[in-house]
Amino acid sequence: MAHRNVAIVGGGPAGLMAAERLSQAGCQVDLYDAMPSVGRKFLLAGKGGLNLTHGEDKARFVSRYGERQAHVQPWLDMLDAQGVRDWAQALGIATFVGSSGRVFPTDMKAAPLLRAWLHRLRAGGVRLHMRHRWSGWDDAMHPRFETPDGARSIEADALVLALGGASWPRLGSTGAWVEPLRARGVAVAPLRPANCGFDVAATPRTAGAPGWSAHFAERFAGQPLKSVALRCDDGQGGQFLRKGEFVATATGIEGSLVYAASALLREQIAREGQATAWLDLLPDRTPEQVLGAVRHPRGARSLSSHLKSRLSLDGTKLALLYEMLTPEAMHDPAALATAIKALPLPLSAARPVEEAISTAGGVAFDAMDSTSMLKALPGVFCAGEMVDWEAPTGGYLLTACMASGAVAAQGVLGHFAAAGR
Ligand SMILES: Cc1cc2nc3c(=O)[nH]c(=O)nc-3n(C[C@H](O)[C@H](O)[C@H](O)COP(=O)(O)OP(=O)(O)OC[C@H]3O[C@@H](n4cnc5c(N)ncnc54)[C@H](O)[C@@H]3O)c2cc1C
Repeated sequence: MAHRNVAIVGGGPAGLMAAERLSQAGCQVDLYDAMPSVGRKFLLAGKGGLNLTHGEDKARFVSRYGERQAHVQPWLDMLDAQGVRDWAQALGIATFVGSSGRVFPTDMKAAPLLRAWLHRLRAGGVRLHMRHRWSGWDDAMHPRFETPDGARSIEADALVLALGGASWPRLGSTGAWVEPLRARGVAVAPLRPANCGFDVAATPRTAGAPGWSAHFAERFAGQPLKSVALRCDDGQGGQFLRKGEFVATATGIEGSLVYAASALLREQIAREGQATAWLDLLPDRTPEQVLGAVRHPRGARSLSSHLKSRLSLDGTKLALLYEMLTPEAMHDPAALATAIKALPLPLSAARPVEEAISTAGGVAFDAMDSTSMLKALPGVFCAGEMVDWEAPTGGYLLTACMASGAVAAQGVLGHFAAAGR
């Protein structure tokens, strides 16, 4: 394949994995990225410990891709969780399975892994071209880039697009690829926030205006709510229910427990204009225990100190009750106990995709063949977060991005083989 030249656009985990597989197969690989360096989101993920993949069994793992699991399964057949761990090990980075099943590099860092990866890619002949922003194709259908030296078209035997989603655009993934692809007849589902925070709708304290009261926002934005449970409709007649923690923000809520429910909450808002997150502020106590404690005579003690001493309920949890309940409900033991176990938090909107961890929507699976080649543009392949799938946090994003990069590389090789026949 040495005479074959492949252009890859996007130096995130998907594009880098495609580069690795193609250079190993003997192709000349040129990788282009709009930013001054590659892997910026990968490095940011390292700030959270770099959750590379997950140790759970294969059936559970693939179920994390929800409606898209049938499409993602063949990707994971190419590179699964163990494959990702073996790949890291081969780069000299050992991994471990944390108590939650999440898999991290032993040093919890992304930089050493990225450094070793780039070293191996360069040694394998991959050429990196930074500050090259892909803007579509020229009249001769050559990929076209904006560079500091002006516009530039390139020639390649195949093109892999691995341009990421639209979250954290300052790291390079802006979603600006949507229009050039749509203009060439490629179906792209609207990009939407995934693993995102939400704005609260009006609370009893805000007289109909959306968001927290000024008092709550000023005092409690950034404060965690730990050991709570969140319940919401799963959109199929059932319920999502999970224990965990999240954070109050200036306008609503965010954090791991909210992210886990975020696809369901986002879709409920799309369907109904609003979603409700039901919070259990004391998931380790039964409703009877909570009611008994709330009803217990409190003598001269204030309600706040009563709740603190009998239920260890204080800080943000207590403030949330005062924010969400009327004064009458706060002083009605049955209503208060019910709210402690099932506080309805109305949510009006997902936070913008720019703030989200990842992106839903993207290039439709129907627009690609099984090798990830665009049906409308033979020789052009797509990989990573720019494709229309989503997954919760837990290592599922990086694994699928890398796996899809490997699949696109395989697709390119198959395309060359077919052309040579
Ligand atoms: C804060 C944060 C923490 C995260 N932590 C984790 C985690 O622990 N585990 C996990 O599994 N996932 C995590 N993720 C998600 C994960 O990082 C992404 O899903 C993954 O990086 C997507 O890979 P990708 O290769 O598809 O795209 P990206 O990593 O976004 O890379 C796309 C590349 O394309 C380039 N590009 C875009 N447009 C153009 C253009 N027009 N021309 C040229 N280049 C272009 C960009 O500059 C970028 O380098 C996290 C995300 C965030 C924001």
